[in-house]
Amino acid sequence: WKDNEYIEDLVKKLQESGTNVVVGSFDKLINWGRSNSIWPLTFATSCCGIEFVSLGAARYDMARFGWEVARASPRQADFMMVAGTIVHRMVPVFRRLYDQLAEPKYVIACGSCAISGGPFKKSYHVAMGIEDIVPVDVFIPGCPPRPEAMIYGIMQLSRKIKVEKFFGGVNRQEKQAEFLKAHP
Ligand code: SF4
Repeated sequence: WKDNEYIEDLVKKLQESGTNVVVGSFDKLINWGRSNSIWPLTFATSCCGIEFVSLGAARYDMARFGWEVARASPRQADFMMVAGTIVHRMVPVFRRLYDQLAEPKYVIACGSCAISGGPFKKSYHVAMGIEDIVPVDVFIPGCPPRPEAMIYGIMQLSRKIKVEKFFGGVNRQEKQAEFLKAHP
């Protein structure tokens, strides 16, 4: 989307001429598509990951929401569901995977470990939450959260995407760059 100069030029011209109705419709159309096909990166480091795996099975069936295609490559994923404990040695790899996600990208911190270190609080080897490593969009509490809570959390992300201003709104990339500069 970033490289689509034709659409960017068109939107700029429409904005300059004060035609906001069409821009609004573009936003809605694109966000409708994006929010109904958010694909997670396959990324699980411990027990919360097992709960996440169950979302893909028949009982919880995340396919009905359009999230079914968990990708093994960050280049093909829309968001990272960080389900599990992040140890210090894992941090550089975790950050690299985030950097490789395609734009626009999102992060869900799933479970107490990803939010704050969980039961490993004050231990020497575990990162005390991922918020200092990457920008987080949604937090799902629990140890582990139930699959229903995970569904609710991803639905919140979907809602967030739906109301985003795709054109001419807050620039997510600029905000992310600011965050990453502050957290090298
Ligand atoms: Fe395991 Fe609980 Fe940590 Fe999830 S929050 S990874 S269930 S210890």
